Amino acid sequence: MMDQGELKYDAKKLPVSRSGEKRVKHRLAKPRIDSKLCNSCMLCVAFCPENCITVKEGKPSIDYDFCNGCLICLRQCPKVAVIEEEKK
Ligand code: SF4
Ligand code: SF4
Repeated sequence: MMDQGELKYDAKKLPVSRSGEKRVKHRLAKPRIDSKLCNSCMLCVAFCPENCITVKEGKPSIDYDFCNGCLICLRQCPKVAVIEEEKK
């Protein structure tokens, strides 16, 4: 039987909705949009839980100050235009 203690979580470690708090230091991963592959469907804009993908000149643009690195944008993109940048 599972120990109930295993179900506990630390809310401070979970991604939360955009609150104006910058995410740079605790981003999980870094997505990058390849504008050549992007067809401007804006699904990534709609699904981003941090509301940090804006539209510039008809193309999505990620505000990395607020991106939490969840990669939902990558999973939703029908054109595989969002890739995960390698961490350095
Ligand atoms: S979901 Fe993909 S194709 Fe659609 S706007 Fe975003 S990056 Fe472009
Ligand atoms: S990884 Fe993508 S969906 Fe997640 S917060 Fe960053 S831009 Fe938004």
